[in-house]
Amino acid sequence: MQKQTVDKLQKKLLLWYEDKGRKDLPWRNLQNTRCDNRLKQIDRAYGVYISEIMLQQTQVKSVLERFYFPFLQKFPTLQSLASANEDELLKAWQGLGYYTRARNLKKAALECMEKFGGVLPKEPEKLKSLSGIGAYTAGAIACFAYDQKVAFVDGNIRRVLSRLFTLKNTNMKELELKAYKILNLNDAFNHNQALLDIGALICLPKNPKCGICPLYDFCKAKFNPHSYPENKKIVYEKLNLALVFYIYKDQIAVEKSQEKLYKNMYNFPLFKQNEFKKQKNMIFLGEFKHSYTKYRLDIKIYCQILKDQTGFEFKKINELSHIALSALSLKALEIYKSKNILLKVKE
Ligand code: SF4
Repeated sequence: MQKQTVDKLQKKLLLWYEDKGRKDLPWRNLQNTRCDNRLKQIDRAYGVYISEIMLQQTQVKSVLERFYFPFLQKFPTLQSLASANEDELLKAWQGLGYYTRARNLKKAALECMEKFGGVLPKEPEKLKSLSGIGAYTAGAIACFAYDQKVAFVDGNIRRVLSRLFTLKNTNMKELELKAYKILNLNDAFNHNQALLDIGALICLPKNPKCGICPLYDFCKAKFNPHSYPENKKIVYEKLNLALVFYIYKDQIAVEKSQEKLYKNMYNFPLFKQNEFKKQKNMIFLGEFKHSYTKYRLDIKIYCQILKDQTGFEFKKINELSHIALSALSLKALEIYKSKNILLKVKE
């Protein structure tokens, strides 16, 4: 692409962003005149960092409406994150899924205390040395928090660039080079935000809206966008599980998972179906499906009244809202509560 063409593309991109971009997102306005009152005391780099980690696997709408503000209220600084109790941190992350992200937040905050004087560094290379921060997140923090002129590639930008330059089986190095080729050095912040928005709102995986795309004049794939990029098939792992509500008096058994799946989260006792033996006095309550990272889970739910407390930790039902229960267990709990028979433990 010639320099003149790149200049035109950059101009069109910024004009589009000014008119149609998601400029009001709170993490795009930290410490400027449009800053939301609830975020006035939040350090810009910290606020951007939290948003980027939340947005890695969660939709903007959910992050905005349910998670961003409450999380920052509970953990308003990098220091508060570094000293966070892990149970409280996982509880604050409940519903966002991919809990490794929450654990890495604390690890990275501690690393910042040790290595960078208690602040997030400005340089992408240093940011990349922190737990849970890869090339994209490092670039995004450097640019959106510190106005560094850097380019970076996430899933959305990958799709836009692959189509713009008709790249089928490309790699990250090539994509980053392309991203740098079109990077607007005079306004990297808005340029990168615009690319993210084009990917999220216009250049959609299944139905790209080429007719209203500001990159239309420059895009090599506009007549056959679906051919780019070539997507790898995701391989999911199927698991059949049994989940048991063990009831002792007015309490329910829970356990903190030590397995990779749900590490340190609370669950009701879970068993692999092939290792599970249904006891005579167990009642079948129902079944449901659940997706978690690469797993596709089929879960059967049972209940058993115990004469003694054995093996597990026990909680009253009203105490369950104070611990970090996995989404899977929360779904099972809804089914459990809907069975209004002898199983209704006093709330
Ligand atoms: S013209 Fe179509 S394929 Fe090309 S970047 Fe825009 S939306 Fe994507």
